[in-house]
Amino acid sequence: MEIDWDSLTFSFTATDVMYRQVIPAGSEWGEGDLLPFGDISISPAAGVLNYGQGIFEGMKAQRADDGSIVLFRPKQNSARFAIGAERLGMPPVPEKIFIDAIESVIRENERWIPPTGRGALYVRPVLWGSGAILGVAPAPEFTFMVFVCPVGPYFKGGMSPISLRVSDEFHRAAPGGSGGVKAIGNYAPGMMPSKMAKKEGYAEIIYLDAVEHRYVEEVGAANFFCVKDQVLYTPELTGTILPGITRDSIVQLARDSGYTVHEEKVDVEFAMQADEAFCAGTAAVISPIGRIEHGDKVTEYCDGEVGEITHQLYHSLLDIQLRRAEDKHDWIHVVKE
Ligand SMILES: *Cc1c(COP(=O)(O)O)cnc(C)c1O
Repeated sequence: MEIDWDSLTFSFTATDVMYRQVIPAGSEWGEGDLLPFGDISISPAAGVLNYGQGIFEGMKAQRADDGSIVLFRPKQNSARFAIGAERLGMPPVPEKIFIDAIESVIRENERWIPPTGRGALYVRPVLWGSGAILGVAPAPEFTFMVFVCPVGPYFKGGMSPISLRVSDEFHRAAPGGSGGVKAIGNYAPGMMPSKMAKKEGYAEIIYLDAVEHRYVEEVGAANFFCVKDQVLYTPELTGTILPGITRDSIVQLARDSGYTVHEEKVDVEFAMQADEAFCAGTAAVISPIGRIEHGDKVTEYCDGEVGEITHQLYHSLLDIQLRRAEDKHDWIHVVKE
């Protein structure tokens, strides 16, 4: 079957092969299996289905300019997956097993990797408490799976700045909770607020901190940045914010380019007086923010254009990811040369 690359969006498409490994609680991760992609059977009493004992990861395998197949900083995803597993009472998957699993699924689905610049193969590792359990406690069995989906380029027809609304009503995470890990249960509560905002014409909502209702936390499921007088600001990682790998890479790239970057609490009032704003995550890399509304206050950034520093950082990161620029930090992981 021919794949129509131009019709790809950021949505689910079944591919050829997936990876699965199941272990009983108390034992170690070993070797998993490559299986045809398809449905799995699971007990209705599984811990993941009843109590949300599950985490996920998201990364992109891309065809670089030189034709090689590459991942961007997958060891960071592995480390974050391990921290999430511990937080949710599950056995962490060792780095080698994690990387070998994703590499083998990517290789087996090579025909699904879009040509350079026309999208990516989105890689989705998941870890679930799959065993049956009635009481609220870690499941007696765990399942680690990896599947992949081809996705189209995030910005078809160029980057366009998005419009956001600050929520005074909903919060994403609270201190001591699970906001700092990719726990599956963190995402469903954001669906209704996000859907409401979209209905009113906003691309997403901005969440403020749950204690003082004052500091910017995240934009939907992406990290927030703003630029004021050539200095970058991004909310510090206090446990309620997901430590994005894109966020970390932007902080490093900005510092490499000579900018000062402050990781600190970012007051929403300050953010609304900034010169540029953008959000960052694997899917879009960087999305410029054109407009933020908070109550009856409105800020428009850069007359609806993409800010200069936003543009510069987006291209420097993309150039590294597609091997057009030198990989000084050793961020590129080659799956196939
Ligand atoms: C995954 C995620 C991000 C972005 O992380 P990346 O590693 O850059 O993809 C940001 N916020 C939330 C809530 C996320 O789940």
